[in-house]
Parts: sequence; C-alpha cells; structure tokens
Amino acid sequence: MTDFHAELTDRLIRYAAIDSQSDEDAPAQPSTAIQLDILRLLERELTEIGAQDVQLTDYGVVLATIPATAAGPTIGLLAHVDTAPQFNATSVKPRLIKGYNGGDISFPDNPNLTLSPADFPYLAEKQGHDLITASGLTLLGADDKAGVAIIMTAARHLLENPQIPHPALRIAFTPDEEIGRGVDARLPKDLKADFAYTFDGGALGEIEYESFSADGANVKITGVSIHPGQAKGKLVNALHLAAKIINTLPANQTPENTEDRQGFIHLTDMNGSAAECALRFILRDFERDGLAAKGALLRQTCEAIAATEPTARIEVTIKPQYRNMRYWLENDMTPVELARDAARSLGIEPVSVPIRGGTDGSRLTEMGIPTPNLFTGMQNIHGPLEWVSVQDMGQATQLALTLAQKAVTP
Ligand SMILES: [Zn+2]
Repeated sequence: MTDFHAELTDRLIRYAAIDSQSDEDAPAQPSTAIQLDILRLLERELTEIGAQDVQLTDYGVVLATIPATAAGPTIGLLAHVDTAPQFNATSVKPRLIKGYNGGDISFPDNPNLTLSPADFPYLAEKQGHDLITASGLTLLGADDKAGVAIIMTAARHLLENPQIPHPALRIAFTPDEEIGRGVDARLPKDLKADFAYTFDGGALGEIEYESFSADGANVKITGVSIHPGQAKGKLVNALHLAAKIINTLPANQTPENTEDRQGFIHLTDMNGSAAECALRFILRDFERDGLAAKGALLRQTCEAIAATEPTARIEVTIKPQYRNMRYWLENDMTPVELARDAARSLGIEPVSVPIRGGTDGSRLTEMGIPTPNLFTGMQNIHGPLEWVSVQDMGQATQLALTLAQKAVTP
C-alpha cells in the first residue's frame, strides 16, 4: 500500500505557506482576495493532474470532477482553504519534524512556546511520526489545508490509476468556512453530489455527523437621551439596560460553563452609548427545542427588563444560522456507515462525537447534500501550537480512497 507521506508533506507545507486568512468584517466574497492565491493554485494543480470540469466559480469555490471508473453515487469531497481569523496567519513557516522523539517540541521563532505531550495526550501517541508545526509566531493552517492536501493526494492517485474502481467524485475547495460563509446558495446545485464529506476533523478515526444548531440574535436597546443636568426621572441609559440584561441571563448557560451536549447563550459583541446600544449573541444547542428555549429565554429577559422602563425600547431579532446535520443524516446513515466501514477495513476504530460548532457540512446537509465530517489529524487548531501528523493524514487519504471504492454499486 502506498503511504503518500512525501506527497502529503510537500502539499501541506506548500499550501500552509500561502496566507489565506478570512475576515469576518469584510463583506466581499471571498472575504479576502488573498484566498484567491491558493484557490487559483489548486485550480491549476487539479488541471495538471488531469481532473475534469475544473472551475473557479464566481463565488470563490474551486470545483472539479474525478470521472467515474465504475457505477455508484456521486460523492463530494470538500475542504476549506481559509485559515482562522483568531490568530496571526501571515507568513506561516511550516516545519517538518521527522520521526518525532516523544519529547517537548520547541519553536525556532518563539522560545517561550513549548508543545508538550504532557499537555496534549494525543501528541504522546504520535512518537515516531513525522509532524508538521508552524514556527511559533503563527498558526499552521492544517485547518484545513491538511484536508486540501488529503483530497489532492487522493485525487492525483485515482487519476493516475484508472484501474481502481470508484464512482464519480466531485471536489470542492471552499473559502470563508471559518467565518461561516463557506457554503454559497449556489454550491449544492453546482456540486452535483449525492452525498459528500468534509475533511475538516481532528483525531484519527473521527467521523462526525452531529453539529450544533445555531441562531444569531441581535438586541437593540434605545434609551431615552436627555442632558444629564436635567435628567432626573427622564433619562433611561441604554448601557444600564444592557448590563441588566447580561446580568439576568443565566451564568450557567455561557460557553465557559458548558460542555459536551450542553448548549449556550454567548454574548459576542456589545456596542453603543447611553442613547442606544446593540448586543450580539450566538445561541447554540444540539436540539431544536433547546435552541428555541434559548431564544425564548433571551426574549423573555429583554421583555422583563423593558417592562421596568416603559419609555425605552428593546428589540430582539433572532436569525437561523445552521442546523444539526444529524436531523437529516439520522434518516439515512448511508454516508456515515460507508465511512465507518471504510475506516474499519483500514483497522481504524470510528469515533463519532458531536461537534461543538458547525462545518460547511452543516449547511450543505440542510441544503440537501448529506455531508459528515472526517478526520485529517489536525490538532490545537487556531493557535501557534497547531500541529498535524503526516501519518494521520496518510490514513485519512487511505480512508478517502477506500470509501470511494466501497461506494461502487455491486
Ligand atoms: Zn476547519
């Protein structure tokens, strides 16, 4: 069995060095023009390896087909090219550590930083592996360039070996996943897949089909603005009302006080003045009822505070963001079972834990293309201690190849 390690190493190091950070505050699509650098490179590389229908859409997604060599459902393979806005992602210097010795890892550009197996038990399991990290000043961007490298490697292998039976595969490299804008309304139709997988998961064996259900809430508070010298009995300070709302919401339903299957109400932004103030919240829960209850609680809280100051106004707007993909996948577990079957045949024990977040697959699933999430090996994402094992990426590549073959109609 080919292990693909050299190719995966080369691809990840090349892709990670290209700055492609997304930006939540930029209205453009893709949010940052630099994402087009890697998107155009991938478009070129897909053409070079002989993929068909290679296209960079005007909404910033690279699409391509690996033509079928046998009958079966069309399977989409997705990864996102953007890196997280939460940490410096400019001038990433990826570094290969060959045959990891199991000890502490130091960083050439940041002597204060140590990646230790004592802090990260998964790292301790990877002794002898080839690891890739950044240099200490940036994130690595294995999230999700490991996914990109895995899909590109699997695609190259299948195109070079047309004797391997597999149905048609559709590749999609998306921008702006990290800011929740990776799935354009046109993508499901353009992807033309019966089901799909994102390669955007962590530890070896992860096959995820549950994500949060998510709403966003805006609270707009309009106070009563009067010169403070003549304010007695008239002024209503919007900032004071905001503080009351925040203090009335239950402290045990914040992200810092919840875990596992618990949802939360998270205040992400607060802006304004005594006259007018806006609060932004994200609401998360694995269940519809739980999510609706969180929205209702926020509304009730705002109404109760508003009732104490009849001359002020508090408006609450709640908008759906994405839904738990389990709602669709539990009706037809074929994509999940196919991935589990492929993993087991490689000697990998499948693990399914609910994702405390969303993926491009959450949106795609809701839009009609069931899309579970598969492991890539990436660890400690969105920060300077991010790392990935090349061997884990190799296993993910084998998983892609194996599930493509197992999807062939008997
Ligand atoms: Zn990701």
